Amino acid sequence: MTEKANKDDVDYGKGHPASHCGRMFPADKGYCKHFLYGPSDDNNGECELVKGVIKRPMWCRLFKKAVTK
Ligand code: SF4
Repeated sequence: MTEKANKDDVDYGKGHPASHCGRMFPADKGYCKHFLYGPSDDNNGECELVKGVIKRPMWCRLFKKAVTK
């Protein structure tokens, strides 16, 4: 498996309503397919591609929309 990217290298930062890491509410369509949800229902999770704790409202250059319709 290839190593995950560093946050700095993929411009990890504040997300946008239409593009962010994790699902924010049930009808949310702007979240990323690479986000891995944590055991609790808070904002913290992980990412398939980026190292470290990843928060739902954030975003990076590897963003890929999970919901396309
Ligand atoms: S690829 Fe980027 S936008 Fe997608 S979950 Fe990982 S850190 Fe967030």
